[in-house]
Amino acid sequence: MKRHVGFILSLILIFSLSSAVGLASTTIFQPGTFTGEAQGYGGKITVEVTVSEDAITDIKVVDQNETPVISDLALEKIPAQIIEEQSIAVDLVSGATLTSEGLLAAVTAALTQTASDIEQLNKKVVKEVSTEKIEQTADVVIIGSGGAGMSAAVEAIKAGSSVIVIEKQSAVGGNTLLAGSAMNAASPEKQNKQTMSSAELNTIQKILELEADNELVQTWKDTLTQELDAYVAEDASYLFDSPSLHKLQTYFDGDNVANPVLVDILADNGLAAVNFLSDLGANWNENIQAAVGATWKRSHTPTTGFGTQGASFVLPQVNYVEENGGIILLDSRADTLLMDGGRVVGVAGKTTTGQPFQINANKGVVIATGGFGANVEMRMKYNKHWAILDESVPTTNGPQATGDGIVMAEAIGANLVDMEWIQMIPTYGPGVFTPYIENQFYINKEGNRFVAEDGRRDVLSGAVLEQTDAQIYIISDAHTVKDGVTSIGRHVDRDSLNTGYAWKADTLEELAEVIGVPFENLQASVDQFNNSVRSGNDPFGRTVFDQEFGVGPFYAGITGPMVHHTMGGIEINEQTQVLAKDGNVIPGLYAAGEVTGGIHGSNRLGGNAITDVVVFGRIAGQEVSK
Ligand code: ADP
Repeated sequence: MKRHVGFILSLILIFSLSSAVGLASTTIFQPGTFTGEAQGYGGKITVEVTVSEDAITDIKVVDQNETPVISDLALEKIPAQIIEEQSIAVDLVSGATLTSEGLLAAVTAALTQTASDIEQLNKKVVKEVSTEKIEQTADVVIIGSGGAGMSAAVEAIKAGSSVIVIEKQSAVGGNTLLAGSAMNAASPEKQNKQTMSSAELNTIQKILELEADNELVQTWKDTLTQELDAYVAEDASYLFDSPSLHKLQTYFDGDNVANPVLVDILADNGLAAVNFLSDLGANWNENIQAAVGATWKRSHTPTTGFGTQGASFVLPQVNYVEENGGIILLDSRADTLLMDGGRVVGVAGKTTTGQPFQINANKGVVIATGGFGANVEMRMKYNKHWAILDESVPTTNGPQATGDGIVMAEAIGANLVDMEWIQMIPTYGPGVFTPYIENQFYINKEGNRFVAEDGRRDVLSGAVLEQTDAQIYIISDAHTVKDGVTSIGRHVDRDSLNTGYAWKADTLEELAEVIGVPFENLQASVDQFNNSVRSGNDPFGRTVFDQEFGVGPFYAGITGPMVHHTMGGIEINEQTQVLAKDGNVIPGLYAAGEVTGGIHGSNRLGGNAITDVVVFGRIAGQEVSK
């Protein structure tokens, strides 16, 4: 267990908890500095390892192209640990597995040139671990340091509470840190600078034709009708948006399954959530875009000021918490909610070294442990809608997304809702350069478009599953990738072309050849796309477009459906209090973020997850502090 603050401090703490025995001190080296290379996540990692006659004395990472923020901890921790333990059998850093493996392979390659016995160096150092229980107390205890947990922590501190965040991984951020980049919020001031086509106007009119199945939904429709009448009376052409449109799209595109009261809160507080992050230091691109499955251009994109786009959804809060006395305990896995007379009063668990801990909560506990997309057993238990969700189906989630909070809450009687709804996304991985779709289209292996690319994620995934090999190519031109970089700052030429999942060509003909699809079909798909941009009449019903396609160079990236988000989870009320199976509040227990259910219904809009975690995380932090 260690705090996030001060990486060096954390290392000292780990090593003081454990005294290394059985160091590989019998290895003899030929003294000097040796270079080693190996493949990491983003490309080659090169290290220089310096050894004396009987010890590894220095390891420098001299070249690497790993994802900033996500890989930082591995690049710092692993060399320090190898030197400390004089062993290359050190633990991988969770959340940065490929970087860890690449780095270890590079160090091994260097040491192989000089060590008398590399096998000896590959022996794991046995550590003595204290079994004494660690006990601490705070007003508010938060489980999970993703966007929801950290937003809750900020608000709890602002409300005067002392806060301890418990995180099972070696680094903060969870899936939020890995997020593509989109955060939905109606933000008319920005959206008014963009234009809207008649096809998009038609989309809103069609939404208004859908039937409201309860009074709250009817009030959204009434508000939107008034707003749209005013827009049309203005003879306007700017991009329209409002919280009521956001609510109706969230609710109807989740098949009316969500709890409208929670949808109401989500959309009403979206812009405030964007501003909350801005106040903590996040910066945003001007352009408002449509993420895959967002169904509308209301996705805000952060700059890469915090290292990656996803980092802006969680590191601003982490900085605030650390600067204002909050404590983040890493490598600490919670497994039990502690009860006293029906009230939740704390959390128990174990550190990664096996030391038990108990964190007492004076005011309450917030569960913010994320979803269960990486837990194959759970997703198979609850899935009712996909033919296969076993281990053969990959996930976009980090390995930590195992639904722990759901299990812990259920064990004390919490109600679970919408568990059967598991989202697959067909556009993820090294062949995907941007989460935004305006200027891209999808073709199957025959070179043909097959779906409205601006549709819902469940529809897109279902359509991809019906294509040859359940794989598709995403086709882009210079409107998406210019001079090798996307509009949101991703380096496609540098980072994607060497992965085997992405290709670039100067002409469409060459592109068709390199990816092995008939050129005439690819050309027909381009013609169809452009015709749809011009006419607003797409054969698949797509309405979200930006520019006509055709400015080279051209790119293709291959991808297929992966488990992405779990819509179901713990049932909460408007105050994020956890509800028991009998509908009563469980005193002292709150939940926010992907661990909860009821906000997205059967299908989550692309870009709504970050809004969800920040909006409800903030509410949880405020409410638990009361
Ligand atoms: P959200 O988007 O809802 O905030 P994230 O996936 O971003 O969810 O973050 C959830 C965090 O909770 C992750 O960092 C994950 O490692 C952490 N977590 C999950 N289970 C536990 C647990 N049992 N104990 C401590 N932390 C946990």
